[in-house]
Amino acid sequence: MSIEEFIPPSSFSEIELQLHYEKLNTIFNSLREIIFTIDIEKGIIENVNNSIETLGYKKKEWEGQSFKKWPLTKRKLFLQLLKHASKSTAEATSQPVLLPTKGDILFVPFEFSTVIYTFKNKKYLLCVLRDTSERERLMHDLEKALQKERELNELRSSFISTASHQFRTPLTVIQSGVEIMNMYLEDFSDEKRKPFEKHFKRIEIEVARLQDLMNDVLLLGRSDAKRTPFHPQTLDLVDFCGNLIENKYNARYPDERKIIFIVEGKKQLVAFDPKLLHHSLENILSNCYKYSESGNIHLKIKFEYESVNISITDQGIGIPENDLSNLFQPFYRASNSTDIQGTGLGLSIVKDFIDEHQGQIFVMSELNKGTTVTISLPLKNNIDTNANQN
Ligand code: ATP
Ligand code: MG
Repeated sequence: MSIEEFIPPSSFSEIELQLHYEKLNTIFNSLREIIFTIDIEKGIIENVNNSIETLGYKKKEWEGQSFKKWPLTKRKLFLQLLKHASKSTAEATSQPVLLPTKGDILFVPFEFSTVIYTFKNKKYLLCVLRDTSERERLMHDLEKALQKERELNELRSSFISTASHQFRTPLTVIQSGVEIMNMYLEDFSDEKRKPFEKHFKRIEIEVARLQDLMNDVLLLGRSDAKRTPFHPQTLDLVDFCGNLIENKYNARYPDERKIIFIVEGKKQLVAFDPKLLHHSLENILSNCYKYSESGNIHLKIKFEYESVNISITDQGIGIPENDLSNLFQPFYRASNSTDIQGTGLGLSIVKDFIDEHQGQIFVMSELNKGTTVTISLPLKNNIDTNANQN
């Protein structure tokens, strides 16, 4: 928009002219930005709007004054700009400056923009100062919060790994202690042995549970610090899942608790880290069994154009809608699962592992009907990996 557009038509009457200027004046003075114009040739500040008072100055302290008295801390830069402006025809610039309030006590950060315009063959500089203190304060607060969050995260990670290592040693001692005592028991009669055996069994189960928990916590600490090694290989995903299902689940569970395996789409090789995917699928499948009392579980692999989806569905207790968005937070457990043992770490580890694959994980669930967890792995990378391997 050129300045000429503000010039009223010559057909305007005196009253219309007055109204026109009053209107422009009102707009000029009600803007939050500090705006002033400089006659470039004379180096004089011509007009300044009311917002200058926010810095503690009066309009008359600026209007008609040489800008050389202007209290910008970056006056040198401004002079250069002005020199440049007097030579060029049109230019707009914008940079951050610190402006002193009257008395130079407080410096306020501003974004300083300038536009050169010509009016009746004279060059002017239109300067706009936008107070950015609120924006800078927010940025500063945000930066501080982020830094704190980073420090806490690091602290948590190192605490987790130290604590879990410390737990592991006494657990191993307890476990081997029980094993040795079991050996001594062999010399006892059946009658004397039975009550001990019952207690030792319980100790063994609880030790195993704690060891599992510590392993999860360690994994989480490691993946937090992005230290989980990620070694993708190009493999047959269908065979991989089929073997896991047959060896680990279907061989152990009764007919009505089996995993039904379905494959859809055009089968192709997939790049994945077998260790991480194995751990992820085990976690999801163990949830299916844990949070459902009956019914088969379905594991479907669906090959699409750019991705392959592995969906695992159970017919269990489901997850309340309110809890769905937090399931991947470490230690988060849904409100309907308090009676069922768990630590809330499984899915957060799975999420980290799937992130490593640049894949995605979704959970869909209906309360008391069942849950479907879907892992989606990209196939695009696979093409590259295949090409690299050939
Ligand atoms: P962990 O796996 O560490 O032993 P967990 O099973 O409680 O403990 P996650 O696997 O991370 O932890 O799952 C988080 C929560 O999500 C669970 O506590 C449970 O409330 C809910 N959840 C996960 N899978 C299912 C499912 N298939 N059916 C119902 N609820 C589920
Ligand atoms: Mg779990």
